[in-house]
Amino acid sequence: MRLSVVVPCFNEENGLADLHARLSAVLPMVTLDFEIVMVDDGSSDQTLARMRELASEDPHVRYVALSRNFGKESAMLAGLSHADGDVVAIMDADLQHPPELLSQMIELLGTGHDQVVARRDRKGEKRLRALSSKAYYKVMNRLVDVRLRDGEGDYRVMTRRAVNALLALGEYNRFSKGLFSWIGFDTAVVDYENVQRGTGQTKWTFRKLLNYGIDGVVSFNNRPLRLAVYLGLIVTLLAFFYAGYVVVDVLSSGVDAPGYATLMVGVAVLGGLQLLFLGIIGEYVGRIYYESKRRPHFLVKETSSPPTAPVRVSFGQDHEANK
Ligand code: UDP
Ligand code: MG
Repeated sequence: MRLSVVVPCFNEENGLADLHARLSAVLPMVTLDFEIVMVDDGSSDQTLARMRELASEDPHVRYVALSRNFGKESAMLAGLSHADGDVVAIMDADLQHPPELLSQMIELLGTGHDQVVARRDRKGEKRLRALSSKAYYKVMNRLVDVRLRDGEGDYRVMTRRAVNALLALGEYNRFSKGLFSWIGFDTAVVDYENVQRGTGQTKWTFRKLLNYGIDGVVSFNNRPLRLAVYLGLIVTLLAFFYAGYVVVDVLSSGVDAPGYATLMVGVAVLGGLQLLFLGIIGEYVGRIYYESKRRPHFLVKETSSPPTAPVRVSFGQDHEANK
């Protein structure tokens, strides 16, 4: 069995050596045939230089450097499409995903699962953040078709079959939590205790989280649009009844001017709803716009070495190849 460990890295210069040391201690116990595929997601610090050093010292290390920062989703995709293992693991570079868990996860994978995902608890996290995450997953699971579970992140191991399925999904907007779930296959879960970041900083701000949340809702189905249809129907029905009532009222007791409050409420509520759903439609149109451009998900600037096996599906483009 050949094992690939894919690590997306963005400004992780201080963490890489530690990560490499921890992985080098753990992986040989699982298999001797392993590779560590580090992806430099356009870091502005010395991350790439560290990767070059590690790759020259350790033949197990390979790296792929992207031409700019494409975001973690694209960095993971770049890593997956360059990994050639029969079993592929994805983990963060900041050691929040304990490498020691890998052997247990891979063992579980061997018992007939296609994905094994590590699920963290929310220990040491701010109350508000933990609560809002919980609420988010509650709402999400009602809104989208795939199942999302709290604490299940990107730390997982997959069989080649699952990786190829993932690579076959060519969409530009990649909400990976949803994609992992969408491909299906038997998935097992390993629990672990939340770990704080080793060095460096998290790239998540509140705003990014909010945007990510909205992405999650609209990238998986058209239920928000359905909601607009239903709400529109209800409002139209109510409006008909109200119109009938107004006509009858005017015919029976004549015109009386007051009604300012009703009018204002009607205008405001309808105006708000229209804007909201215009926004939702806009989200979908925007997605169609991005998908229709068919741009590559990432561009590769530099790699350590060609992969030993041909890359099965390639999403990115090498700059060299474009010349
Ligand atoms: N990451 C990346 N590209 C980005 C942002 C993050 O490759 O644009 C990597 C980052 O280096 C780390 C992983 O994704 O290995 C998770 O990022 P982070 O620790 O900031 O997220 P958190 O753990 O706080 O959710
Ligand atoms: Mg982290």
